[in-house]
Amino acid sequence: MTELPFDPAAELAAKASELRRTIGRLTAPVEEGSTIGFGKRIGDGTIQAIQQLTDAGSAQRLADTLDQVVRAQAKLADGTYGRCDVCDEPIDPERLEFRPWSPTCVRHAGQTR
Ligand SMILES: [Zn+2]
Repeated sequence: MTELPFDPAAELAAKASELRRTIGRLTAPVEEGSTIGFGKRIGDGTIQAIQQLTDAGSAQRLADTLDQVVRAQAKLADGTYGRCDVCDEPIDPERLEFRPWSPTCVRHAGQTR
């Protein structure tokens, strides 16, 4: 495995717990007294419903990232970390330093899933 200027296991563990915390907050049950959905009354409830839809969207994106983090942890465990999921070529260490959970090289970014 290529020597990396950082500790991927620590980076991935930190990112995973950060993501799980944020997702938990975004998907937490609505506080008591507030309404879900678009009611008849236009006002705070509508704005809140839109806010919740936005949060649901970001929660989904965060969950996708979390999938990649978990995938990267599995690759660390089986010794394939640092290799592209598509072409099996080494991933640029600079890319890994920026996004330690990148499952692919630059060329194949976005080609998994
Ligand atoms: Zn590739």
